[in-house]
Amino acid sequence: MPKHIPIRTCVACRGSSAKRTLVRIVRGPDGRVAVDPTGKANGRGAYLCARRSCWEKGLKSGVLGRALKAEMSEPDRAALAAHGDQYQDDSDA
Ligand SMILES: [Zn+2]
Repeated sequence: MPKHIPIRTCVACRGSSAKRTLVRIVRGPDGRVAVDPTGKANGRGAYLCARRSCWEKGLKSGVLGRALKAEMSEPDRAALAAHGDQYQDDSDA
């Protein structure tokens, strides 16, 4: 039996998938919002697909900020946008 795989939901497209296909974004104790490559950082987390369209939607529509209950600063937002730009916009859904 495989171990239980946590299922997470992308805040942009509401699609669910195994955690490893989603990227965690965390609002740290200092209020900074950043990508959490380990998936284990303390703070409130939200997930986006590793897909460019989800990052654009999450940032532009503000759903990411709402999910994190965070007021995102411009530098943080720009860093996240740059991160999202790395991904392809493949639509395997
Ligand atoms: Zn998504």
